[in-house]
Amino acid sequence: MSRKLRLMIPGPTPLPPEVSAALARPMVGHRARDFAALTERLHGKLQQVMQTKNEVFILTSSGTGGLEAAIANTVNPGDKVLALVAGKFGERFRDLARTYGAEVVELQFPWGTPVDLDAVAEALRKHPDLKMVLATQNETSTGVVHDIRGLGYLTAQHAAVLAVDAVSGLGGIDLPADEWGVDILVTASQKALMTPPGLAMISLSAKAWALVDQCRAPRYYFSLPAAKKALAKWNTAYTPAVSLFFAQEAALDLILAEGLEQVFARHRLLGQAVREGVKALGLELLPAPEAAASPVVTAVKSPDGIPADDLRKLLFDRYGVLFAGGQAALKGRIFRIAHMGYVDKLDVLTALGALELALNDLGYKVPLGSGVAAAQRVFLGGVV
Ligand SMILES: *Cc1c(COP(=O)(O)O)cnc(C)c1O
Repeated sequence: MSRKLRLMIPGPTPLPPEVSAALARPMVGHRARDFAALTERLHGKLQQVMQTKNEVFILTSSGTGGLEAAIANTVNPGDKVLALVAGKFGERFRDLARTYGAEVVELQFPWGTPVDLDAVAEALRKHPDLKMVLATQNETSTGVVHDIRGLGYLTAQHAAVLAVDAVSGLGGIDLPADEWGVDILVTASQKALMTPPGLAMISLSAKAWALVDQCRAPRYYFSLPAAKKALAKWNTAYTPAVSLFFAQEAALDLILAEGLEQVFARHRLLGQAVREGVKALGLELLPAPEAAASPVVTAVKSPDGIPADDLRKLLFDRYGVLFAGGQAALKGRIFRIAHMGYVDKLDVLTALGALELALNDLGYKVPLGSGVAAAQRVFLGGVV
């Protein structure tokens, strides 16, 4: 038998069979009526899952393309932008703003901790000329969820627009974008949205569009005014990844059939089970405080004497289970277990069981079944 692979990385994530089947559908003309109808339906479903009434632009690119669109359409050289950095993806958003000539005011927070709202409030007071605040909903590199609601409350009283990278959290963690005052929301297909990589989604509030209207930065493929013009005809400015549109609709149908509340509750429960499981093995979690721990990805410190990447390699080679490694300063020190999208309780038990085997293989003796049992206890006590 060929090795059975189990992807437990924060994107790309496993595909539900309905999504795989949609990928095999015959091609349609992207300027034909059928495709316009699909775009209109997909748009409505995205608005539901993104919890916004704003228009949603579907770009054929990875998530970073969506982030680039957010910056390229709003930032004029010299504009002051506040970047909230507590991990790799906060850095990426900051770097994008710098690339487009922003004068970046940076607030750094230790990796593994959430953004401190008091520090943000102070920066907003100190810099009334800030145009934009760049935030990350779910910092995938550390497994921490930031307080977007709190940030939205602060920016609502300020001229600055709140731009949120929700690439890894959207569809797994509640983010009522309009209600919380998110002005620019960016997500992508390949994480909690259960679709292959290749689509980025972005929506903008009226407050954010005012920046677009004043933006003189050069852009072409990622021009949102061009996307807006095309969307008026339920179209895209350039040839879209047609198959991914099919697949994304199938995935959103599954999310909406399960119900957003239930999807969020499922992820919370899976996250809790993973955390209890690894703690029962005597391993330490990265996120502190635990209240900020992500429901969709868990960062775990590798035990002393066990390099995280050796553990990951063994898990993959021997058991076909793929965990993600640490990035930047955390490389080799942590491994990350993703539980986003098409993931259920038994996936979590499998991951923990494999982790127990691999730790023992490497000579780090943990009682077999102890992590699995801790997760099972969470499930028996849980409601999902
Ligand atoms: C995955 C991810 C991205 C985008 O990465 P791409 O590889 O360009 O899709 C951006 N932000 C966060 C928080 C992510 O997890």
